[in-house]
Amino acid sequence: MYKTGNCIFCDIINRKIPSKIEYENNNVLVFQDINAQAPIHLLIIPKIHISTINDLQDEHYNIIGEMIFVAKQIAEKKKINDHGYRLIFNCNEAGGQTVFHIHLHLLGGRKFIWPPG
Ligand code: 5GP
Ligand code: ZN
Repeated sequence: MYKTGNCIFCDIINRKIPSKIEYENNNVLVFQDINAQAPIHLLIIPKIHISTINDLQDEHYNIIGEMIFVAKQIAEKKKINDHGYRLIFNCNEAGGQTVFHIHLHLLGGRKFIWPPG
């Protein structure tokens, strides 16, 4: 499924590409987005390779829940929970996905507009 060099986020998990890691456990990794769109812009990724949200299977139910739960905990730790923040999954080209290893964007530290562009 994944070969070294095929997926930049798997390479980040395996420390083949450096990143600024904010949190890690057995199942997820959280690191700073290289092109931050807000004062806080973190990516929460599963340690298993899943290409898009369309590829989710029943066995991924728990990891998706854990990603959102970790986002909530980090928002508390960063003290952006009360003010507010945004969580985003982009899916495929029209959805704005550019890296095909699912990732939850956690954006905070400024006010966001709706609807998004
Ligand atoms: P997408 O557009 O797929 O939803 O989001 C991909 C995100 O990954 C983008 O916000 C982009 O800035 C970020 N990104 C792409 N390559 C790298 C990288 O090598 N390191 C880090 N830390 N972020 C990356
Ligand atoms: Zn991957």
